[in-house]
Amino acid sequence: MSSRQPHLSARLQGFGTTIFTEMTRLALQHSAVNLGQGFPNFDGPEFIKEAAIAAIRAGHNQYARMTGIPDLNRAIAEHQRRFYDLRYDPDSEITVYSGATEAICAVFQALCDTGDEVVLFEPFYDSYRASITMAGAVPRVVTLRAPDFSYRPEELEAAITPKTRAILLNSPHNPSGKLFSRSELEHIAALCREHDLIAVTDEVYEHLVYEGTHVPLATLPGMRERTVLISSSGKTFSFTGWKVGHTCAPPAITAALRCAHQFVTFCTATPLQHALARAFVADDSFFTGLTAEYRARRDRLCDGLREIGLGVLTPAGTYFVMTDIRPLGYSDDLEFCRMLPEKIGVAAIPPSSFYVNPHEGRHLVRWAFCKTDEVLDEALRRLQKLRVSTSS
Ligand code: PMP
Ligand code: GLN
Repeated sequence: MSSRQPHLSARLQGFGTTIFTEMTRLALQHSAVNLGQGFPNFDGPEFIKEAAIAAIRAGHNQYARMTGIPDLNRAIAEHQRRFYDLRYDPDSEITVYSGATEAICAVFQALCDTGDEVVLFEPFYDSYRASITMAGAVPRVVTLRAPDFSYRPEELEAAITPKTRAILLNSPHNPSGKLFSRSELEHIAALCREHDLIAVTDEVYEHLVYEGTHVPLATLPGMRERTVLISSSGKTFSFTGWKVGHTCAPPAITAALRCAHQFVTFCTATPLQHALARAFVADDSFFTGLTAEYRARRDRLCDGLREIGLGVLTPAGTYFVMTDIRPLGYSDDLEFCRMLPEKIGVAAIPPSSFYVNPHEGRHLVRWAFCKTDEVLDEALRRLQKLRVSTSS
């Protein structure tokens, strides 16, 4: 269908422009309330901002240590111990990157040879498939099926071949809001052990959990030694634009990751690292408060979307909710989301772009609730028009 894009490498043909970029452009063009790309419309805590400003004033403005400034690596180690009883050595097992996105890229550059396979679940955060492909590896996709986004165990088992290098797991999961269950985690861990695979776990929404508990795969028996745990300060501290992420992994894997990281960005913005070193050691009350605030936002948006007539698939975690658009008479997420900013004044994300089998997600639309009550209420007010236009 789409013709070959000149100048673009063969590997990246077909990847186009991300759906986040397209929907953000439409939101701006039509002054829509933007519940599309996931970023808060508020800042993180003042003490973290002040620490960043103080770090700039104190002259922390040159290249940082390639692996992360010592204070930040120590603070991340302390965070992993406090919340999960996972012990990582800050110097040999923790690495700081320019966002989880860079970490994802570095992981596959570092660990995969050409033709290696990486098993991942769809729908997926869009950079996974691109990063695997840019590394010369091959994505093998297992579908999480709506409405509960469970997978069929036999499909995961069948996706593993002698070429499989790693399984990539994102829990809490974007875009579905699913938290993988204990038995799913045990199944995935057993397959990693049986086939000697590396587990790459994207845990950027680790503190945004409303039902159940976040269990890092690395805490399961035999998994710490074969897991690359990825997270990001963007979601936890509400500074998505700072783009500071990290990995925790055993020394030999970490050495490989750093070999890639040193040539991708080399190091991450120094003053922001100084500020986040303070953030990771914040009191427990900061983290419980964050979850409580987000639970209220989730309930506000879910209740409102339900009332409008959408089929709400209530998320257990993340700051996204998926809805079934068919009850309102729509069947194509892309058409719906391209219409929405201009006709209704709201932007959302069509998740079919997060599938290699787009039909699995055609009837779904993702809404972000990392917004103040006023913004959520205004979006819901505008969305009322959808109800009127279908019932008249
Ligand atoms: N993983 C997931 C699942 C995400 O949703 C995102 C985007 N926010 C990222 C990784 C990227 O995080 P960062 O902004 O730190 O690069
Ligand atoms: N992770 C963000 C989301 O899912 C998007 C980040 C990006 O634009 N790459 O909304």
